[in-house]
Amino acid sequence: MEREVQRVRQAFRSGRSRPLQFRLRQLAALRRMVEEHEKDLLVAIGADLCKSEFNVYSQEVITILGEIDFMLANLPEWITPKPAKRSLLTMLDEVCVQPEPLGVILIIGAWNYPFVLAMQPLVGAIAAGNAAVIKPSELSENTAKILAKLLPQYLDQDLYAVINGGAEETTELLKHRFDHILYTGNAAVGKIVMAAAAKHLTPVTLELGGKSPCYVDKDCDLDVVCRRITWGKLMNCGQTCIAPDYILCEASLQNQIMQKIKETVKEFYGENIKESPDYERIINLRHFKRIQSLIEGQKIAFGGETDEATRYIAPTILTDVDPKSKVMQEEIFGPILPIVPVKNADEAISFINEREKPLALYIFSHNNKLIKRMIDETSSGGVTVNDVIMHFTLNALPFGGVGSSGMGAYHGKYSFDTFSHHRSCLLKSLKREGANKLRYPPNSQSKVKLAKFLLLKQFNKGKLGLLLLTFLCAVAAVFFKKYQALLRRKALLLCLIVRGLLWSSKQ
Ligand code: NAD
Repeated sequence: MEREVQRVRQAFRSGRSRPLQFRLRQLAALRRMVEEHEKDLLVAIGADLCKSEFNVYSQEVITILGEIDFMLANLPEWITPKPAKRSLLTMLDEVCVQPEPLGVILIIGAWNYPFVLAMQPLVGAIAAGNAAVIKPSELSENTAKILAKLLPQYLDQDLYAVINGGAEETTELLKHRFDHILYTGNAAVGKIVMAAAAKHLTPVTLELGGKSPCYVDKDCDLDVVCRRITWGKLMNCGQTCIAPDYILCEASLQNQIMQKIKETVKEFYGENIKESPDYERIINLRHFKRIQSLIEGQKIAFGGETDEATRYIAPTILTDVDPKSKVMQEEIFGPILPIVPVKNADEAISFINEREKPLALYIFSHNNKLIKRMIDETSSGGVTVNDVIMHFTLNALPFGGVGSSGMGAYHGKYSFDTFSHHRSCLLKSLKREGANKLRYPPNSQSKVKLAKFLLLKQFNKGKLGLLLLTFLCAVAAVFFKKYQALLRRKALLLCLIVRGLLWSSKQ
């Protein structure tokens, strides 16, 4: 492991991951890998989660192809240094923000969307010009194996390494110094990752989970609402970080919601859910038993059947759930949907705010005022109104948590920003030394006054001001040329003073 991490670092130091053309070629190679091994990937990922090939394609492969295409289309613009506003003192200098790669990125993936959670950060790391070590989850072992086999066939083998293993190997890996760590998984391990990163002052992005609430207002179309909730809750058998974890609604809506979800389940998965190719299984026995224990002692309004041999848990709705019950204390991460009755929206807002900040919040209502109020008065990693999950699919939106649901964000430009250092650049010439006398000792009251004026005034007075200033500078330049001997050291100062007068006359 030591040698592998060193090899990646040496490769980064060679500088070859930095040029735009190299990044674009690696991203295109990644795309080719997905296309040329589509079938192998569908089989491997599908085997880990008992997932149909259609579902693997639409939930995992499409996401990665879309992310790569987005990067390929936008990277040339993103890596271009961006000019920044200047002060009067620096108005003749070049001022810009130039993104540069951070170095070696450690990506620690989770098992529930094993391909996306390893690959999407990798796409961002490559786009930002970094090297990377990828540690897929050991629980989704088929995906871990295929990534270790395929990635070196398509990517630069020294810059990007896959290291497979579990907690022990990850603990070992975390002893090394990285330049950024993106971890996806539960909060307990998130703390371990952050503590290990702190030893090297390594920044982290923690993509965690939590209980994402779903508020259903009485003013809405329950048929549509229940279809959307059922889809998001049961996708991947509830093992989705942004799945609606529980429903908050007025007590009078409970039975209607339960009935409509029950009908939708039948429509989506048929009479025999176990036979449906669209209904997955729980990842392992430990999680199966954990989820099973959450149902115990609860009022099961629908579902509740389990089968340990195949790790099947039926879509299950719990009604009149006590907020203090076990199922309301931890993230469910399974196909169990508790309904917690609340008196009104006020109580729902308080309920949400009294708990840890969720990764996602879902609000269903026709009432725009209420929707706005709920967004304004709560906090969560992301919000989708009148639907679930869908904010994840937009690479124009940052994806990440807040508080205990995570820190930092990625996807699209946000990945590029997360894996880049945004370097402040001020490029001066060695000329115009006269103007610098202002900051050299000995200092004086008049110098302080002038410095205050020159430094505190931004050079951003709109187009007309800029045009006028350019004109005045041009006049000053002509003068300067003509009376060079006399004005050599004073021209800049003159220009600045004229600008200053112009500015003060506007105040
Ligand atoms: P997991 O068991 O796959 O663990 C995640 C990673 O941590 C793995 O690579 C694993 O090897 C490593 N790991 C486990 N124990 C470790 C230890 N002691 N020291 C160091 N590394 C260790 O996944 P999980 O934790 O079961 O993931 C589920 C959680 O992740 C849920 O809470 C879910 O909401 C969250 N999640 C969040 C996102 C997101 O994007 N925010 C996405 C998916 C899952």
